[in-house]
Amino acid sequence: MKDKFGREIDYLRVSVTDNCNLRCVYCMKEKENNFLKNDEKLTDDEIYKIVKESAKLGIKKIRITGGEPLVRAGIVNLIGRINNIPGIEEIYLTTNGILLADKLEELKLNGLKGVNISLDSLKEERFSKLTRLGKLENVLVAIDKAIELGIKVKLNTVIVNDVNKDEIIDFVNLTKEKPIDIRFIELMPIGIAINYKGVTNEEVLKVIEDNYTDYEKVVRSKSGGPATYIKLKGAKGKVGFISALSNCFCEDCNRIRLTPEGFLKQCLHFDYGVDLKSKLRKGISDENLREIIQENIYDKPEKHLFLEKSEHKELKFMNQIGG
Ligand code: SAM
Ligand code: SF4
Repeated sequence: MKDKFGREIDYLRVSVTDNCNLRCVYCMKEKENNFLKNDEKLTDDEIYKIVKESAKLGIKKIRITGGEPLVRAGIVNLIGRINNIPGIEEIYLTTNGILLADKLEELKLNGLKGVNISLDSLKEERFSKLTRLGKLENVLVAIDKAIELGIKVKLNTVIVNDVNKDEIIDFVNLTKEKPIDIRFIELMPIGIAINYKGVTNEEVLKVIEDNYTDYEKVVRSKSGGPATYIKLKGAKGKVGFISALSNCFCEDCNRIRLTPEGFLKQCLHFDYGVDLKSKLRKGISDENLREIIQENIYDKPEKHLFLEKSEHKELKFMNQIGG
């Protein structure tokens, strides 16, 4: 369906937990993260119902995210159930990759089309420091196994000033060796990230151009998501840029979000939306649920205002919203 600005909204990002097995420095605090209790999170059946009604409104693509989605018990089964909902054409996962390798075969059997793996350093020690708890080897094994199984892999990389800028070319070089796309994502001033300084994608591109002149621009399709891509000559994968801050792509926005506690969120940046969990637990009919989802899709804000003041600004951390 279309929102009031005429944008076709066909993509729902479902965050299934705020919990995580890592504590990336720009995403979560080291301690006292006050994770939701189990009964505060949507159950599998509640998530299923929301996706089912959303699909009737034209949602076709689902991304499962978090927190770390793979720490949620029964996640593979939930992915399979969602994949079988009439109208749902594609289901994807965003993960830190730590628990991924062992689950890949099952995920594929349950319909997973592709996986976005977040990776901000290819240096073991730095990776552990950045994630506070992670072991790089686990992620690298998962990447290779996903490729082997024919699951589409995209890497999400956030470049943070004074932390990993020196690895831009190492990441770009991965696209020469492996059939994966790597996307540089600009750090957004959300939650604890306000304490860090991101690097604009213009700066990232400049570093790439200082090292490579032989690349082609890949034409971006409206349905292809917010990334713009280049491809090094002869490379197996592409290099993408998701520049939410320096190059707002809101006019092509096609998504809404569901948080782990059941809030249907109209836009990443604002607290606008509706608490679906309490309505479900009061016994709302499927028809009324669908109407409420419809109203909230229709009312999506025109664009984010990350660089301006707003009283409706989202104050939660990224793991609580669903990145
Ligand atoms: N745990 C999973 C993961 O790391 O892929 C899924 C959730 S995580 C919040 C999703 C993505 O959000 C990660 O790629 C992470 O780097 C990114 N992220 C977290 N905080 C961010 C911020 N302030 N700005 C931009 N991206 C951020
Ligand atoms: Fe966890 Fe993902 Fe946030 Fe890192 S970015 S702390 S892996 S939710």
